[in-house]
Parts: sequence; structure tokens; C-alpha cells
Amino acid sequence: MIQVNENFLQLQRNYLFAEVAQRVATFGEQHPEAKIIRLGIGDVTRPLPPAVIEALHAAADEMGRAETFRGYGPEQGYAFLREAIAAHDYRARGIDVGADEIFVNDGAKSDTGNFGDILGTQNSICLTDPIYPVYVDSNVMAGRAGTCRDGLWSRIVYAPCTAENDFVPEIPDKPVDLIYLCYPNNPTGTTLRRDELAKWVEYALQGGSLLLYDAAYEAYITEEDVPHSIYEIEGARECAVEFRSYSKTAGFTGLRCGYTVVPRGLKATTQSGERVQLNPLWHRRQCTKFNGTAYVVQRAAEAIYSEAGKAQVRANIDYYMENARIMREALTAGGLRVYGGVNAPYLWLKTPEGYGSWDFFDKLLHDHHIVSTPGVGFGPAGEGYIRLTAFGKREDCEEAMRRLRA
Ligand code: PLP
Repeated sequence: MIQVNENFLQLQRNYLFAEVAQRVATFGEQHPEAKIIRLGIGDVTRPLPPAVIEALHAAADEMGRAETFRGYGPEQGYAFLREAIAAHDYRARGIDVGADEIFVNDGAKSDTGNFGDILGTQNSICLTDPIYPVYVDSNVMAGRAGTCRDGLWSRIVYAPCTAENDFVPEIPDKPVDLIYLCYPNNPTGTTLRRDELAKWVEYALQGGSLLLYDAAYEAYITEEDVPHSIYEIEGARECAVEFRSYSKTAGFTGLRCGYTVVPRGLKATTQSGERVQLNPLWHRRQCTKFNGTAYVVQRAAEAIYSEAGKAQVRANIDYYMENARIMREALTAGGLRVYGGVNAPYLWLKTPEGYGSWDFFDKLLHDHHIVSTPGVGFGPAGEGYIRLTAFGKREDCEEAMRRLRA
């Protein structure tokens, strides 16, 4: 008899974006004349930078000539890209990360989900709430989350982040093995300052926890005291893995590329108490289950580190952050409480008195024809908030704000 992995049957139906799509479709059918503005889904709208396109063309041409054709590449990524990452994303900021600690992938979603492969299923977990849903679901699939009641899993320790605590999660008062931190945060758009992040590193070092640090929105940081990498914090090389992505940095949501840093010194323990390095374990996992990111895509990623590439990437990020500024100022002027949008392309709005997340979602859709994302879809502590993204087109952001003002 074929048995399924019953952990998958425990997954809660992720109805967030399906429900959003359904409500928008129904509204669209009932009001075909409405010009709906979509500020819900976190996907970019600017085209790829010219330097990336040139690199893609050049690499495609290489693949068409026998002398330069490439077949399977190294599973952990080509040296040219890993060295560029080490130099530009880390050494240039005074951070010690070697090329052999970098694993190129097809985007951060894969590795944030897959990294649990090399970690025991008995590990306990801490998550900030609300949060990017992949961390929860991938641990449910692995059988690590326990049972679910009222949207909360029995073996997950939740650290709520709301306006009441200024979106700074409280450090658990008991030992936890695996801790997911995402900064700048999706969905709240908020960040941790260097001293706040340092407390998590200290906690992890003292208690022997592993920090799984998702820095997918690092490129959007504008403030000085917000760390771009967890390795800016002393001791983090002994307790943290870092995930990065080119999706929101350089418009690679469709092209697919990112990377994971697993420092050489990072260790976990076997049941018999032996300390084991995670870097070779992850290397082994990747060699077995992953055959590398496309050569042309890695050349495209390398191109963002050229002088022209850097300037073009910066221009796109500035475009989105100007959207964020326009929306933040207009919404604040309209009397709403707005968080995020300073170091991240997400705005997190407190819903007006008497409105739950879905109520306010409906109001924005019905009265103003604007699509948002209900905060409660990212976790129970997201109730009473909605998320707007700054990834839209400028004219749409401006029009949305005009409608709200009117
Ligand atoms: N991590 C966070 C916090 C995200 O918001 C996203 C995408 O929205 C990802 C990771 C996944 O990014 P990628 O496109 O690199 O898979």
C-alpha cells in the first residue's frame, strides 16, 4: 500500500491569495467599468536592467557555440558568481564571507524551504508573527510544527510583532532550536536595528540556537543603523545562515536566482552529542537534490555587480522606494497609521477602528477599487492590518492615493 507523507495533510489551506483573487474577480464581474489597481501581490513590475539583458544575450550566444557551450555546472554555483557575491555583497561592507560559504540557488524560496532537510525533525522553532508563510509550511511538511489550533502550531513559539511592541519581537523566555528572522520584514516592512539584532545573536550563541536569517529585501535598506547582513553582528558566523535573493533586488522574480550563506564554522549536534559542520552537509544535500542554477541566469546575476549594473539596479529600487514614499505620505496625511516603507517596499497599515483585515480589504476594493493583502493572512498577529506593496507602476500608486484622498 502506498503511504503518503501525512504531514502534508496537516497543512492549513492557504486561502490568502486565492481568496483575494476570488473577491477581486467577483467585484470585477459585478463592476466591469471599475479600473482596479493591484497593490496586493509582492511582485516587481520594472523590466530587467539593461546590463542583465546584455549578459543574458552574451551567455545565450556562448551556449550556441561548441567552444563555449556549458553543460552541468557546479551545484553550488559558478565561481565567477560566488566570488562576485563575496566581494560585493560582503567584503565591500567589511563582512567576512568566503566564496566557499556561498550556495547559489534558484531563489530564496527554495532554500528557506529546503534548509530544514539537514536539521532534525525534533528541533523546536520560533517564528515572528506575521511572517512569510514558507517558514511555517515547510516545517509542517517536515513534521516539525505539531498540531494546529486557531492558526497556531503547538510546537512553534510565536513572537508577535505589532504596533504595540513597535514590531520588535520579544526574545523567547525558553530555549528554542531554530529561529526564523526576516529583515527587512515581509509583510510588515519593518526592520531591526543593529543592537536589536545583536540580542538575537547573543541569545542564539548562549542557548545553541540556529538563526535562519532571510535578507531578501536587504537592498531596500536606507537607514544607517539597520544591518544589511546578519554577519555584521559579531558572533553571527557561529549561529546563523543567511538567505539572499535577486528577485526583489534586481527584478529576478521570473528569472530565478538567489543564494544562501552557510559559514564554515557553523555547527549542529548529533543525538550522541557530536558537533557537525553544516556547510558540508548542505553541500552534500545540494549535490544530491539540486543540479545548479542555469549558466545564463548566473551570468545575468553577475552583471548586477558591474558599475552599470549597480546603477541600473539602484534606479529600479529608488523607483519602488519613491512609490513607497508617495503612498506613505498620502496615507499618513489621510489619518491612517502606516508602518514600513522606509527600508522595505511594503507598507503595513493599521485598519481603522472597527475594521478587521478582511473588512478593510473589502472597503478598499469596493469603495476605491484598490487591491491590498489582508494582514491576517500572514499570521494571527496580522489581524487588524493590511499590506500594500510599492512594486506597482508609479501612475497606479499615484492614482490609488488620489482615490483615497477623494
Ligand atoms: N523570502 C521572503 C521574505 C520573500 O518575501 C520572498 C518572496 O516574496 C522570498 C523569500 C522568495 O524569493 P525568491 O523569489 O528568491 O524565491
